[in-house]
Amino acid sequence: MTSQDSSLLKRLLVLGTGFGACSLVRKIGLKHYDVTVVSPRNHFLFTPLLPSTTVGTNEFRSIIEPIRHIRGNVRYLQASAEKIDIENQIVTCHPTGDGERFEITYDILVIGVGAQINTFNVPGVEEHALFLKNHSDARAIRQSLISNFESASLPNLSAEERKRLLHFVVVGGGPTGVEFAAELHDFLEEDLNHAFPLLASEVRITLVDAMDEILGSFTQELRKYAREVFDREKIEVRTQSIVKVVEADGITLQEGHKVECGLTLWCTGNAPVPFIDELPVEKDKAGRILIDEFLRIEGKEEIYAIGDCANMRGKEFPPTAQVAQQEGDYLARHLNRIAKGRSQKPFEYKHLGMLAYIGGRKALADLPNFEGAGFTTWLFWRSAYLTKLVSLKNKFMVLFDWFRTFLFGRDISRF
Ligand SMILES: Cc1cc2nc3c(=O)[nH]c(=O)nc-3n(C[C@H](O)[C@H](O)[C@H](O)COP(=O)(O)OP(=O)(O)OC[C@H]3O[C@@H](n4cnc5c(N)ncnc54)[C@H](O)[C@@H]3O)c2cc1C
Repeated sequence: MTSQDSSLLKRLLVLGTGFGACSLVRKIGLKHYDVTVVSPRNHFLFTPLLPSTTVGTNEFRSIIEPIRHIRGNVRYLQASAEKIDIENQIVTCHPTGDGERFEITYDILVIGVGAQINTFNVPGVEEHALFLKNHSDARAIRQSLISNFESASLPNLSAEERKRLLHFVVVGGGPTGVEFAAELHDFLEEDLNHAFPLLASEVRITLVDAMDEILGSFTQELRKYAREVFDREKIEVRTQSIVKVVEADGITLQEGHKVECGLTLWCTGNAPVPFIDELPVEKDKAGRILIDEFLRIEGKEEIYAIGDCANMRGKEFPPTAQVAQQEGDYLARHLNRIAKGRSQKPFEYKHLGMLAYIGGRKALADLPNFEGAGFTTWLFWRSAYLTKLVSLKNKFMVLFDWFRTFLFGRDISRF
């Protein structure tokens, strides 16, 4: 706690340790606020590089930073918020693992709990598909990939079963699905094909999307470029394909065609987490909390919501790190201004553009004043993310990982 008597400070309760919450916590004035952070995850995760950890280009620990290192002098409690008593300003929390529920009172509450993957209630997704949201998901994917290669190498395996094990299907042609397919392609080309030379010709990657095109938020030209690169990389893209059922051994498309595969990765956008679902406040069509131009829940002066779990009335902010980060930064400034009795300014989102990795050392950049694709854009993509990592330790570790991968390849051990 600060050296001041914390009982004189306003109690600021922050839910979450993601992009929005951490940006706020880094910049909030601890002379004015007694800050408590509640989240089941005791660290910040730099999601833009998460796809690269599924194949070992980067290691898991290189892209996470403990919340206690991001800002000392704030109280962190490893728990999930369960419900809010809005009238009495109390949040009930459930500790991660064992432990009794507890309550925390607040003067100001900031909700930054993110979102979860939308399964669209497709049967079998929860049971049989893998997701890519947290580092535990990335670890499960990495285990599964290597395990499939080891299983496919066993004797007495039928040709059909080997083919199935070596077919990797990604559902969702947004940036996450595309970047995973790209990283997987690099892993195959640069590492697995050398380690498993007899299997190389049998490996397939398929990207399935319900829409007409992949990477719908990028310009037409960049989408075309990505498709051409994927064609060359032998990543099969199946657009206008809706998945009806997911099973352990494959997916069935709406037209009834079954695609057998050894791994299904499901990356099809966001849905609200149960805590937000059950919150008795006004929400938009996508289940996000509706907020005003000061990021407050309308009519509730003391409750703010930021990031993927919220949306400003009349706007359609994309569910991205840059929105969450800008909202967290703004809210820290806004609350600091309030504490100093200064006037308040509404939040304004500044779109900085989009980047995506498409494999083979090529990336796309769709920026307000620049559009680029290819190798030079890949160098830009890497340097942009290197500068955006939150700590010097992360920057050093990611840079080291890139050199290690370049010199020695990715690790294919399974443990
Ligand atoms: C693989 C991947 C790649 C991405 N790449 C990019 C990219 O390149 N560029 C980009 O702009 N965006 C990217 N995104 C999107 C970006 O990660 C999100 O938009 C951003 O993380 C949203 O920030 P947030 O603070 O709202 O939530 P998150 O960062 O998701 O954090 C939510 C936090 O809330 C916590 N939490 C959950 N439930 C509770 C609860 N009940 N109580 C308390 N805490 C809770 C979680 O543990 C977590 O700490 C990517 C996302 C993924 C999954």
